[in-house]
Amino acid sequence: MSIFHYWGRFRFHLLESDNLIIYWPNFDKGVLLLIFGALCQVSAIKWYLFSYFSPDNRVWINPDFFLIRIVTVFTTLVIFSFLTLLSFRYKRNKKFRTFIAYFAPLFFGGVMIYAGYTVGIYSPATIAGFVNIVLIGLVFYSREIIYSIAIPASIFTVVISYLTYNGMIRYAPVFSDVLTMSEFYHNKFWIGSMAEVYLPILLVSVLFFEILLSQWRRREKIIKKMSQTDGLTNVFNRRYIGEELSALERKNKTAYAVILLDLDHFKLINDQYGHDVGDTVLQRVAAILCTTTREQDIVGRFGGEEFILILKDQNLQQAIEIAERCRRIIELEDVQIETGENLKMSASFGVALSLPHLNKEQTIRMADRALYLAKQKGRNQVRHYLELNLVPSA
Ligand code: GH3
Ligand code: MG
Ligand code: MG
Repeated sequence: MSIFHYWGRFRFHLLESDNLIIYWPNFDKGVLLLIFGALCQVSAIKWYLFSYFSPDNRVWINPDFFLIRIVTVFTTLVIFSFLTLLSFRYKRNKKFRTFIAYFAPLFFGGVMIYAGYTVGIYSPATIAGFVNIVLIGLVFYSREIIYSIAIPASIFTVVISYLTYNGMIRYAPVFSDVLTMSEFYHNKFWIGSMAEVYLPILLVSVLFFEILLSQWRRREKIIKKMSQTDGLTNVFNRRYIGEELSALERKNKTAYAVILLDLDHFKLINDQYGHDVGDTVLQRVAAILCTTTREQDIVGRFGGEEFILILKDQNLQQAIEIAERCRRIIELEDVQIETGENLKMSASFGVALSLPHLNKEQTIRMADRALYLAKQKGRNQVRHYLELNLVPSA
């Protein structure tokens, strides 16, 4: 399997699946946190090695602590990576899953707070980082996990603060005396180190929020599409057509044509060949209507075997021509069924035009009456509202 395959699966799981990250099993969230944790350590190693070999920064580093720092960052990288690998290996082991669910956020939080301690437990970077961890935790984890992590993390923070305050341990041990004695708030290394701790935490928060928001947007799109389309034929549903007509009515100036069509003797198709064949015919007709109209025209399913077309900025003649074109294509189309037979179908059409003094219900009624006339006159034909002599006057 290529790396692209795994990347594709990872991407799907993260951004395209319907399974939102907040509903993921705690184990999966834990694994993602382990991966982010490992990446944060790589970034820290890069920063500390760069600083060590940069003469400008090196003078600000506490040489007694530096080795400890490098070793801890490297060890945590190994632990994060090792646990990630183990997670793929033992993803079906129930006990291991529970362990990772609790341990990953606890370890991640602990490592971040320790990193905060190395640059100063009261530093803005540490404080902002701590706030971020708690915030992400609250969004993604259940209360029990968050409390079982936030409590030891807070105790850890308070103990370090107490020891630092009483001079029992050094404040910001990664920095040399040159720095701690100086105005280090203006120091490039100090600021860089703050950023080094803060930025990965911020990045992890942003990544989590970004994933959540992408998933959210995708779901919103699906829900919107589902609320507007007819499940069988994939054209707009009656609700959406109603909204669209209301919008056109509000604009008032836009003239539009309404074409209603009803399949002829559709009940016979259902009775003779079954409901499934009836459904196929409906899908075929919907597809014909979509390909025969322009992009700005709206095709909808109005009822069982009744469809509606809304054509914007069209006069009666153009609307009749489009209806006629649809009628002809439906008439010529053969629907092949399982027995090998070719099924013929036809539809009757009624056309109406929006008039300033008619509301949308009246316009649709006009089209419906014209459709009824087409049925009366023998089906498989187009009729329009002017043939009715029934148009309500202003
Ligand atoms: P007419 O030419 O007068 O329109 O005759 P018709 O048989 O088409 O008219 P009628 O209204 O009597 O029949 C419509 C049929 O459409 C009845 C109903 O079972 C069928 N129908 C409605 N919705 C669906 C659907 O979603 N799938 C299928 N297969 N049939 C449907
Ligand atoms: Mg009907
Ligand atoms: Mg019918």
